[in-house]
Amino acid sequence: MRQRKVVNSDDIKNLTGEHILNNIEFDKRHIWHPYTSATHPLPCYEVVGANGCELTFADGRKVIDGMASWWSTIHGYNHPDINAAVSAQLNKFAHVMFGGITHQPAVDLCRTLLDLSPSGMSRVFLADSGSVSVEVAMKMAIQYWACQGQPQKHRMVTVRDGYHGDTFAAMSVCDPVNGMHSLFEGVLAKQLFAPSPQCRFGHPFVEDDILPLQELIERHHHEIAALIIEPIVQNTGGIRMYSPEYLKRCRQLCDQYDVLLICDEIATGFGRTGKMFACEHADVTPDIMCVGKALTGGYLSLAAAICTEDIANGVCQGEPGVFMHGPTFMGNPLACAAANANLAILNKGNWVQQVARIEQQMKIELAPCNNHEAVADVRVLGAIGAVEMKAPINVARLQERLIKRGVWLRPFGKLLYMMPPYILSEDALSQVAEAVVAVTAGE
Ligand SMILES: *Cc1c(COP(=O)(O)O)cnc(C)c1O
Repeated sequence: MRQRKVVNSDDIKNLTGEHILNNIEFDKRHIWHPYTSATHPLPCYEVVGANGCELTFADGRKVIDGMASWWSTIHGYNHPDINAAVSAQLNKFAHVMFGGITHQPAVDLCRTLLDLSPSGMSRVFLADSGSVSVEVAMKMAIQYWACQGQPQKHRMVTVRDGYHGDTFAAMSVCDPVNGMHSLFEGVLAKQLFAPSPQCRFGHPFVEDDILPLQELIERHHHEIAALIIEPIVQNTGGIRMYSPEYLKRCRQLCDQYDVLLICDEIATGFGRTGKMFACEHADVTPDIMCVGKALTGGYLSLAAAICTEDIANGVCQGEPGVFMHGPTFMGNPLACAAANANLAILNKGNWVQQVARIEQQMKIELAPCNNHEAVADVRVLGAIGAVEMKAPINVARLQERLIKRGVWLRPFGKLLYMMPPYILSEDALSQVAEAVVAVTAGE
């Protein structure tokens, strides 16, 4: 038998001394992190506490979180209401299978989700992560057409610079370059890509912008199941904010050519762009809508694919009559309880002023970045701010400089971007903005 190498924490302690080095060293040697090398990883910081909008590192330093843990922690960490809701549910039951069973937290959640969703949406599929909800949405669209006797309608059309998750179907509709499609040649489904929308949010719409997508749909609609798009803001693929008119045209093209519209609201949903859902900027109701990220206020992983009655009927008509998908942790009660408490806070309505104030302040306080030689562009919509540099950012170096200024941001490619918790105070946001202005000036 192969001898297992035993590393106990005492060994590590003896080798490396202080406790903080133990965890970081072990992590560096054995734990994968998102989007970094396993063998030569970017630096990693150990968090020992998170409260409100502040993270505490193991060495005692505190930083303001400008990322809301990737769009999710909209009301801040350690929120008393969400804590209480999760604890209360924990004392009832933490989990139960969703096959043939329902429960109050799931019913409450789906009721609230449908109340919040654009009118016409009536069925909720609970999934355990954003990527899975995208898989579910795409699968629904394909099954919908198969059940209408049109199995050849199984491809997706989308735009470049998009991001829809890291599982294989989701990856097939991510930007081919950012998503490194060349690595998975022959494995990923070949989808149809139009150029990304060029008309910026708040600028006049130009007819030419929609033409490439229109032509693609005209030419291929007989084989297209759905158009999938992030409404109004393309997020992880570049923080690109585009004209609502473009999304309106997407809806019209889908209606005209019998193509379903999937809006991926996973990043934009729950107030982030200044509307509850970004598709409201264009007054568009999708056929299927994916939500996730902020759904549980950053407490637990939960997402949903929400569809109209027509889609649900279409998917379940004829053979096989059922939708073949059922995650083990579907509708997890703890996650639903967190989501219910989170949405109850949202439903009080303070987010409207909070997001508007953050937008206003970021527009003013990030503007000086425009004067820096190294900056290509500054963009703000709702509680999303992005500074695009002309050259790729040295993440490790920039992060270190930000942390010295008491700020946590995680740049990506050429982008230094922020999507703070909605409760971030004016002073704390100023500290984040000042840090961004300073580091993009090379300070
Ligand atoms: C984050 C994200 C996803 C993937 O969600 P996960 O929970 O990370 O799987 C999908 N689509 C969009 C628009 C996202 O921002």
